[in-house]
Amino acid sequence: MKPKHVKVIVRTRPTSDFANDILQISQETNSIHIHIPKNSESGFINNQQEDWDFKFDQILHNASQECIFDECGAPILKSLIDGYNGTILAYGQTGAGKTYTMTGTTENYVHRGLIPRMISQLYKEIANKTQMAITVRISYLEIYNEQMVDLLASLNDDENCTGALKVVDENIGPSLVKNLSLQIANTEEEALNLLFEGETNRSIAEHQLNKNSSRSHCIFTIYLESRSRVESSEKVIYSKLNLVDLAGSERLSKTQTSGVSLQEAKYINKSLTFLEQVIIALSDKKREHIPYRQSKLTSVLRDALGGNCNTIMIANIWGVKEHIEETISTLRFGTRMMCV
Ligand code: ADP
Ligand code: MG
Repeated sequence: MKPKHVKVIVRTRPTSDFANDILQISQETNSIHIHIPKNSESGFINNQQEDWDFKFDQILHNASQECIFDECGAPILKSLIDGYNGTILAYGQTGAGKTYTMTGTTENYVHRGLIPRMISQLYKEIANKTQMAITVRISYLEIYNEQMVDLLASLNDDENCTGALKVVDENIGPSLVKNLSLQIANTEEEALNLLFEGETNRSIAEHQLNKNSSRSHCIFTIYLESRSRVESSEKVIYSKLNLVDLAGSERLSKTQTSGVSLQEAKYINKSLTFLEQVIIALSDKKREHIPYRQSKLTSVLRDALGGNCNTIMIANIWGVKEHIEETISTLRFGTRMMCV
């Protein structure tokens, strides 16, 4: 069997009007069956296939945040500490729960998303690794219309790191983006403050530019630098984890309702297509050329996708009737990743 590069996990957004009659989920077999009666009065899909079958690595239906962390976050965190790069991507239409999955909400502990849970667990693990000295750094990058924005720029006091952000070709440092600020976080609290700072800067910019978060990709990255305290060797292990809240995947026809302009939607669709092409190219051992350079997103993620890295794609779906086409589109995207 060929090695699997991407694990695809479907998460449903809990809703009281879940379209149970057309969308059947089997958690035992990790499969989804969609059946749309041809002459259904709603007639949302005309003259198209009436039945679809999908199978994934896992389906987390109405799952809690804790469950998402246990299934997606914890294993990736373990290998991060062992020195492997990783990436978790939240994919799906606007409103499907990507931001809830990655960041969550703050009003109640149970709603905390993957990022704060990863942070919390990371410092617990570090405290147990008494034989290692581990330094944690964090960056928070937004990509909007192929332009990069440093969400932690307000904290940047490094004079060598003030120019425009630029993706570099060589792996010179922990980040592939020149001038991106990397902040040291010695404690869980410091790391959570960085997340909070980035979120605040993001929402301020959103108001100023009258844009909303569904139009940009946001990449929260945790970098580890580990040295042995017991061995005298100078060996240093670097690893990093990207936690990515992707822009909404809705098709052009749907974008008006989610407030995304045509131009923005074109950028988003292109970059998601390039992401797919890169992931597919990575799965092909014979392919020497991986088309990373086609977009900022793939350039920035290039050393943490495929290969020895752990990649999980969480396909978020919103299983109500009016969004069934978007759900099918998301599940198709996930299926293409499954073949990788
Ligand atoms: P997206 O980022 O994909 O546009 P959001 O994460 O903002 O979607 O989710 C849309 C709304 O649905 C938010 O109010 C969010 O809190 C809620 N929501 C999404 N997924 C869940 C879930 N699994 N449990 C509870 N509420 C959720
Ligand atoms: Mg969002």
